[in-house]
Amino acid sequence: MRLWIKDPLAILAAGAERGIVVEGAEIVECIARGRSPAIRPDATFDASRHVVLPGLVNAHHHFYQTLTRAHPVGLGKELIPWLAAMERVWERMTPEALRIAVRMALVELLLSGCTTAADHHNLFPPGLEDAIDIEVEEAMRVGLRMTVTRGSMGISEKDGGLQPDSIVQDSDTILSDSERVLRLYHDRNAGAMVRVALAPCSPLAVPKRVMEGSAALADRYDARLHCHLCQSPDEDVYAMQAFGKRSVDILEEAGWLSSRAWVAHGIYFNPAEIERLGRAGVGVAHCAASDMLFAKGICPTKDLEAAGVPIGLGVDGSASNDSSNMMEAVRHSLMLGRLRYGASVTHLDALRWATEGSARCLGRDDIGRIAPGMQADLALYTLDEPRFSGAHDPIAALVLCGAHRADRVMVAGRWRVIDGAPEGVDLAALIGRHKAAARGFG
Ligand code: ZN
Repeated sequence: MRLWIKDPLAILAAGAERGIVVEGAEIVECIARGRSPAIRPDATFDASRHVVLPGLVNAHHHFYQTLTRAHPVGLGKELIPWLAAMERVWERMTPEALRIAVRMALVELLLSGCTTAADHHNLFPPGLEDAIDIEVEEAMRVGLRMTVTRGSMGISEKDGGLQPDSIVQDSDTILSDSERVLRLYHDRNAGAMVRVALAPCSPLAVPKRVMEGSAALADRYDARLHCHLCQSPDEDVYAMQAFGKRSVDILEEAGWLSSRAWVAHGIYFNPAEIERLGRAGVGVAHCAASDMLFAKGICPTKDLEAAGVPIGLGVDGSASNDSSNMMEAVRHSLMLGRLRYGASVTHLDALRWATEGSARCLGRDDIGRIAPGMQADLALYTLDEPRFSGAHDPIAALVLCGAHRADRVMVAGRWRVIDGAPEGVDLAALIGRHKAAARGFG
């Protein structure tokens, strides 16, 4: 079926003033001003009230944390004490609780206009060995496109690390399960709904063997690599003490300085490291909300981009944001970018990071833009709420007035949000179940 999304109020695409035609999972035509579709469409969607964006792409998250938002043990703490306190809560995660946490994160993202997400799942207490399988099942059920990342933590308190013994795994278990989920779920085809990436929590949180083994598996299965990196100035102090080198050098020695890798946060690089990351094509997922919450600093987005680093946006974990709203992440990245770079950061930069930039971080050239041949992943917003009244530029209004909720969302040519409601999900029942599950973590 050919669907003409007709005459949008505004659209973030060149030469598509009269809209776009979608057939199957793909965009097949952009209709320029004064033109009509080349082939008569089977159906038309009147988009005259809608601002149309490419579906937003979330490049970093921790879905399980939706059950522990605004948690009393984490309030008013710096990053490391916060993490230490929260890990004692998260170690109680069960498969049933994870499933409902993931479902909530997927739905929340979708409602904000997100169509693809990378979830950094690095929590594997005993009993939660099937965490990645659960994530894949839930993503398919809700209809969000995913890069599920098989995370890992391998150095616990007994080995001088930060993590409790209960949530770390040994290197053999991490690597063999990484290969298992790559074999089962990693789809390298264009238009894939599920891809798998390998994601040690940080190069300082796992033995070198896990970093090297993950890079080797990523090469073998043509998959991507992800980790947290340089979120805090203390990290390189610790890296020098524990490993005798800086984080970027540890990454390079493990075979990670390549365009297969993208890292979360990426605040504290020196100029030479920025050049090295750019030459290698390592991506950075800028997580503005959690960087502000923990007062860690401002990602040097413009310097990284100038060096050739793809910049994407991540909402980061739902216990350090504590929202999973991708449009809010766009607005935060604009505001924080202004603090560092002044007016040279625009709403169009922030939107590019949240779409094409994040897609590049995830190694995808089939999403993140509205153009013929791209996947039909779209977010449509109305400007009918009081916050938009009086706004002039419709695309700037989404970012500056603070759009929060999409009216329609399409993933792979299928409407997944209609009139602001997720398709096939009883939202009230989901919230009820999610709240009940969260009580287990009080
Ligand atoms: Zn994170």
